[in-house]
Amino acid sequence: MTKSRRPLTKKEIGEFRKLLLEKREEIWKEIRTELKSRVSEEYHGLINDVNDEQDLAQIDLQEEVVLGVLETRKKELEAISQALWRIEHGEYGRCIECEDWICTERLKVRPWAVYCIPCKERLEKLGKV
Ligand SMILES: [Zn+2]
Repeated sequence: MTKSRRPLTKKEIGEFRKLLLEKREEIWKEIRTELKSRVSEEYHGLINDVNDEQDLAQIDLQEEVVLGVLETRKKELEAISQALWRIEHGEYGRCIECEDWICTERLKVRPWAVYCIPCKERLEKLGKV
């Protein structure tokens, strides 16, 4: 299988950006559902509007409830934010290890990927990721 390692086109970047935003919205939806299952009904209305960590902080929920829910999702949200930041700064699609382009096939599966496949495999063997 040939892997295309090349700069992304503007159109592709736009598509990945959309994908990342959708994924982020999906995660927040899961967070809201999860929160609702843990808190009393008086908070449910407030939780409907929660879209980022700051919103969460403004709702006076028990900290351990919020942290518990966020913990599992936090890494994904961070990876997505990082990918969006990289799009804004024209860095998106480049491996942060070797600076070569990450093949688009990989980005389609994991649009927040920061390593190309060879680097990822090498780092995994070293236990670094
Ligand atoms: Zn690499």
